[in-house]
Parts: sequence; C-alpha cells; structure tokens
Amino acid sequence: MDFELAPEVVRYRERVREIIAAHHTPEAVQHQHASGTFNNPALNRALAAEGLVERAVPGLGAGDPIELWVLFNEMEKAGAPLDALAMAVMIAGVVQHVGTAEQKAAVIPAVTAGDALICLGYSEADAGSDLSSLTTRATRDGDQWVINGAKMWTTMAHEARWVILLARTDASLPRHRGLTMFLLPMDTPGVRVDPVHTMATERTNATFYDDVRVGDHCVLGEVNGGWQVMSVALSFERGVMGGSNPGVSLLRHSAQWAHDSRRINEPAVREKLARVAIDNHVAALLTQRSAWIAASGGMPGLEGSMTKLFASEAYQQASRWFQEMAGAEGLLQFQQPGAAADGWIEYDARHSPVTTIYGGTSEIIRNNIAERHLGLPRMRR
Ligand SMILES: Cc1cc2nc3c(=O)[nH]c(=O)nc-3n(C[C@H](O)[C@H](O)[C@H](O)COP(=O)(O)OP(=O)(O)OC[C@H]3O[C@@H](n4cnc5c(N)ncnc54)[C@H](O)[C@@H]3O)c2cc1C
Repeated sequence: MDFELAPEVVRYRERVREIIAAHHTPEAVQHQHASGTFNNPALNRALAAEGLVERAVPGLGAGDPIELWVLFNEMEKAGAPLDALAMAVMIAGVVQHVGTAEQKAAVIPAVTAGDALICLGYSEADAGSDLSSLTTRATRDGDQWVINGAKMWTTMAHEARWVILLARTDASLPRHRGLTMFLLPMDTPGVRVDPVHTMATERTNATFYDDVRVGDHCVLGEVNGGWQVMSVALSFERGVMGGSNPGVSLLRHSAQWAHDSRRINEPAVREKLARVAIDNHVAALLTQRSAWIAASGGMPGLEGSMTKLFASEAYQQASRWFQEMAGAEGLLQFQQPGAAADGWIEYDARHSPVTTIYGGTSEIIRNNIAERHLGLPRMRR
C-alpha cells in the first residue's frame, strides 16, 4: 500500500499551509481566545477564493478525496480555528447527499465561497445522548410548519446563516421515526440566540424557536426521516471534520516546553512525548480512512466512531500527562509569566475534555461500536 500523497494533493497541501500561515496571525489567535468564537472569516474566504474549500466538500467530487482530510488536518496542526468551517463543509456535504436542487443551489455555493456558516441544532437541555427524546416540535399549519422549542449547545449559531434543526413532526410514531430535519435561515422571525461560555474557551449557544414558520422547502430529506439525515451528518462529523488531530499542536507546544525547560533530559518526559507522537500518527491514519470513505461518497459510520473515540481520548490523556509533568506552571494561562508552553498546556487541558463530549460522548460511541458493529448485547432498551 502506498501512503504517499499524489503530487496534486501535495500542491493542495502546500497552498493550504501558505494561506493558513498568512491569515492565522497572532491577532487572530488572540481574538479567538478572547471571544471564544472559533472562526477566522478571512482565512475561510482566502481558502475559498482558490477553490480549496469546494475541493473538500464530501460528494462534490471537485478534488482528490483525501483533500478533505488534508484541509482540516493542516488547520488543526496549525492551531487555526476550524470548527465553524468544518461544520459548514460537513453540512454542505449532507445537503449534497440528501438536499433538493433548490437547497443545493442556495447552500453549496455560499459555503464554498467561504461566506456562509451552518450550525447544528440537535441537542436540547434534556436530550443529548438520548437525542430521540427531544421535544422541539414542528406542527403543520396549512402549507407551513410551525416550530416551537429550545436547543442547547448550538455552537456558532451567533455567526451562522442557517441551522439544521431536528424537530418532532409525528408524536404517534416510534421516537426515532417521528423526527424531521429542517434547514432554515437563522434570521427567520422567532429564532433567538443566547451565549453559553464553556470551560474550553469556546463559546456555544442556547437557541430558542418561538412560533417559527417555514415552508416545505426547508425540510431537509424526508418528512419523518430526520434521524437518517442526522446519521449522515454525524458520520462525517465524527470521523472527518477535524477534532481528530488536536494532539499535533499540543505535542508541538509541549516538545518546545520540554526543550526550553530542559525537561527533555528526563526519560519519563521523552517517553510521553514519544507516546503522544505515536497516538497522533494512529489518529491521523484513522482520520484519513474516514475522510477518504466520506469524500468518495461512502458513509464512515464505524470508521468515524473509531476515529473520534481514539483521537479525543488520546488528546485528553496527552493534555493531562503534560499538565502533570509541568506542575504548577502547567496551571498558568496565556499571558501569565512562567506559564508552561506560554499557556498552551493549560489551555489544552481545559479544551480536551469537551472533545470527548461533542459529536457524541465516549461512552455513547463505545456503546455504538460494541452494539452495532461488534454485535454485543444492548445495555439498554
Ligand atoms: C462545547 C460543546 C459544543 C457542542 N456543540 C453542539 C452543537 O453544535 N450542536 C448540538 O446539537 N450539540 C452540541 N453539543 C452537545 C453534545 O452533542 C452533547 O453534550 C452530548 O451529546 C452529550 O449530551 P448531554 O450533554 O445531554 O449529556 P448526557 O446525555 O446527559 O450525558 C451525561 C453523561 O452520561 C453518560 N451517558 C448518557 N447516556 C449513557 C448511556 N446510555 N450509557 C453510558 N453512559 C451514558 C454520558 O456519556 C455523559 O458522561 C455540544 C457540546 C459541547 C460540550
């Protein structure tokens, strides 16, 4: 098997790196950490201007399938904010998969121009892991749907042009089957966004839907087929869209700290650096496989679950190792004198736990792999 990238993909990667280097400036990093908004519009637009975003949208066939991985891997390695762009690219891929011609015409060019973001409205305060118990409902009124309810953790809702919103449309059907996915503009009357700041620095939101009226053109996929649409989106999210190699920038910062502090001379420190390097390599290989499947028109269900579980758990473990080794200096934040790795070790220790939660918690993903892929008995009805 040949693991080398094709020459065209190498050129793609080099151009992505150059654009990231030009736009992921110290000022952009400062803004990201001060605002909690993990988005760099100038970077998104610069990548889009050369067609590099379009080439990464799953199913469009504009680039080599592995470019989907290359784009987000390069952003992640550089520590550039990718959550906003990754969600938009992922949902563009879902729209390409299940959307109408009208939805494709509206969404895909806006995303590939780097102009529009899309947020994910699945979770509710009392429906996260057990999403099928969600209570946001859409009821029929003439030729319209009227949506009422509240969503929790709607990351990027404050900058997104659209939300994909999972709502109950038929309470008489079994819980998974009575749900419909809607794709609606965030400026639709009745939509409200309130900020929620997290320990991970990243800002997310609570969103509220009060008599929001939309037409059938906002239904994404089939009526009462929302669970299937969400499964497509989740398989892309877990395996592909970044979040799977954050250990790379952690390793870079920690190795720098080990050299600067001369702790590199300690065998225990060297061993941990080596272990994290190996885990990062495994995470990269798992992500490449998922990305290739998604970009080639497949659905990386199992592969995505494996990738997300391994990469986020390894990242969390690595951040704890380095924080422990750095001692008190590992508790100091950005701009505090003496902070280990200029505060990056403290930041990663706060950021890594949430990566084991969003997109499905590690426990849920383990259950999913065990029950659906290994055929082990179900632990709950
Ligand atoms: C920073 C952040 C950003 C997010 N962004 C988004 C977003 O953009 N859009 C969106 O829709 N959602 C988003 N989420 C929500 C995320 O998907 C949920 O938090 C996650 O699915 C867990 O749901 P919950 O928080 O309700 O926890 P719960 O489901 O209440 O789980 C609590 C604990 O119980 C465990 N548990 C629950 N059920 C089981 C079980 N059957 N077996 C074993 N253990 C179990 C869980 O693993 C967890 O440890 C985000 C979350 C965070 C933290």
